[in-house]
Amino acid sequence: MSTPTPPACIFCRIVSGEIPSTRVHEDEDVIAFRDLAPQAPTHILVIPKVHIESAAHLSPENEALAGRLLLVAGEVARGAGLDARGYRIVTNIGEEGGQSVGHLHLHVLGGRSMRWPPG
Ligand code: 5GP
Ligand code: ZN
Repeated sequence: MSTPTPPACIFCRIVSGEIPSTRVHEDEDVIAFRDLAPQAPTHILVIPKVHIESAAHLSPENEALAGRLLLVAGEVARGAGLDARGYRIVTNIGEEGGQSVGHLHLHVLGGRSMRWPPG
């Protein structure tokens, strides 16, 4: 008997188009789309197309991809007009880090003043 394939994670399903999203960027390796529950006037998620659980699961072979994610985060922020006033890029890792979706993503948050330290 074959083992059933586990359902793909929610962001893998967004990558495949099975779950709709409002995309603001797509290239060979990375997509960016608007967060479903925005925590700021601009809230965009930048994710790799391949499933990597979190930033803590990146390996040396992902070095170029890790850099690409950061570059795309800056590009989408610029595209959203956030450059002049500033913005925040954040990635949550694991339970205490506040990660709720186990597929690496950078949050790009802007359009309001950010607090520090974060909650
Ligand atoms: P985390 O809590 O893991 O750092 O961030 C996960 C983010 O994904 C949350 O901000 C949440 O609102 C967003 N999110 C969860 N499910 C969906 C979805 O189906 N579509 C979109 N666009 N965002 C989602
Ligand atoms: Zn995934």
